[in-house]
Amino acid sequence: MDGDSVNAFVGIGSNLAYPSRQVESAIDRLSELPGARLLARSSLYRSTPFGGVEQPDFINAAAHLKTTLSPRALLEALQGVERAHGRERDGERWGPRVIDLDLLVYGSCQISEPGLDVPHPGIAERNFVLLPLSEIAPDLDVPGLGPLSSIAINYCEPQIERIA
Ligand code: ATP
Ligand code: CA
Ligand code: CA
Repeated sequence: MDGDSVNAFVGIGSNLAYPSRQVESAIDRLSELPGARLLARSSLYRSTPFGGVEQPDFINAAAHLKTTLSPRALLEALQGVERAHGRERDGERWGPRVIDLDLLVYGSCQISEPGLDVPHPGIAERNFVLLPLSEIAPDLDVPGLGPLSSIAINYCEPQIERIA
């Protein structure tokens, strides 16, 4: 991988079927993705669910990839990993899921297409995204939002703790 490769950041979450293991195994799969190299991964975080659906706590993490895949191809690869973990796509939004992989940031790109919004629209409001991302990329500039370090983090809502 050379000068054509792009820094991409992925948010990972799970709250079913031994969530920590799901997140760890998703990270393993990311490290084996053709066209991508895993440069860093965060610790695991436990967060309480948001969105009003009664469900188990989530385990969250973030990963830094260097990739030659296009944004769309990377999203498809992430969805392939979700399917490999048995994720069903007919569940309710923000409901329980065995694995969720969101493309948070793709280089300096700002994309708004059917089925693909980058940077991911939820970044600024979600401490379970901001905390793991800050751990692995404190100097990241989020296109359209500015330096990650300038985005205010609400440490309390949802409740979150670093676990490993
Ligand atoms: P949220 O996107 O608010 O975190 P979610 O992760 O529960 O909610 P999903 O059901 O996993 O939502 O995905 C819904 C759709 O979001 C997917 O079909 C996908 O095409 C689209 N999507 C748009 N932008 C992105 C992105 N940056 N990363 C992942 N999926 C995205
Ligand atoms: Ca998500
Ligand atoms: Ca998702």
